[in-house]
Amino acid sequence: MKPRILVSKCLEFDACRYDGQKITDKVIKQISNHIEFLPICPEVQIGMGIPREPICLVNENGAVRLKQPATKTDFTDKMNTFSNSFLTDLEDIDGFILKGRSPSCGINGLKVYPSMQKSPVAFKDAGLFAKQVNEIYPNHPKEEEGRLANQFIREHFLTSIYCLASFRALLDKPSPADLVDFHAKNKYLLMTYNQKLMREMGRLVSSQKKLGLESALEKYQRSLRLIFKKQPSKAANINTQMHVLGFFSEKLSPNEKAFFLDSLTNFRNGVKPLSVLNGLAWSWIVRFKEEYLRRQTYFQPFPEALLLPMDSAKRERTYKNV
Ligand code: SF4
Repeated sequence: MKPRILVSKCLEFDACRYDGQKITDKVIKQISNHIEFLPICPEVQIGMGIPREPICLVNENGAVRLKQPATKTDFTDKMNTFSNSFLTDLEDIDGFILKGRSPSCGINGLKVYPSMQKSPVAFKDAGLFAKQVNEIYPNHPKEEEGRLANQFIREHFLTSIYCLASFRALLDKPSPADLVDFHAKNKYLLMTYNQKLMREMGRLVSSQKKLGLESALEKYQRSLRLIFKKQPSKAANINTQMHVLGFFSEKLSPNEKAFFLDSLTNFRNGVKPLSVLNGLAWSWIVRFKEEYLRRQTYFQPFPEALLLPMDSAKRERTYKNV
């Protein structure tokens, strides 16, 4: 099942910006065949028209208002009413890609001014529509389009939404065996993200009879969203790789093991990418017909076609060194 993602409409979909322009975005373009996008322009939805005078965020007694200085119009109530009703009615959404630096869609860091006159920034906040996204969907994956140019951030986002979408597919016709299978094939991926939470999720799976399937699925989905809130660390990936090595340690020659451990050190030192380790592991999985590992989503958490070549050289430089 393709992930279902709400996206700011001006990103590749429609010339709906205040200046009548559309924004070209390489990432959105390249991933669009593999994602079910739901494009929305909140400003057009509340009748602001195209083109329109620019708007900004203004602090009024501690409350952030959405105002149009040229017409002195306050769009706050309209935007809040629309956002709340639209977002509450949304169904089956796996995540959000929103336009940064927009007083409506920007997820954070938007300048809030003390007045509509030219003045220094009072503080920073989220855009008005994005604020409601945060409130109504606090644990869903969400990114601004600019951050997705970073390969590590993009792959984390894609991993999250693909895993959440595959869980959503399971909810169509759920069975206790499906939940057991889902947890089994995602075990190494979840372990890399958060071992403690992965174990708690394992306990949920094994107590589904006691909890009832519906309640177990609901709790599991909540934990699944939580587990993807934080990117996995390099140390967690090394731990997972050592588990993988454990499957083959009796079957490999001393030279093969030494080469793998060397590659692991190079990965730790930022000299080799994770893909080198995964490539080695995958060659053993094929060679020794290791079916349990072959099914692990850790090795391919989203379609290969989404591994974009545009910044492969930068990949490991952006890896979190934790
Ligand atoms: S940033 Fe949001 S509100 Fe602004 S044009 Fe794009 S979709 Fe519309």
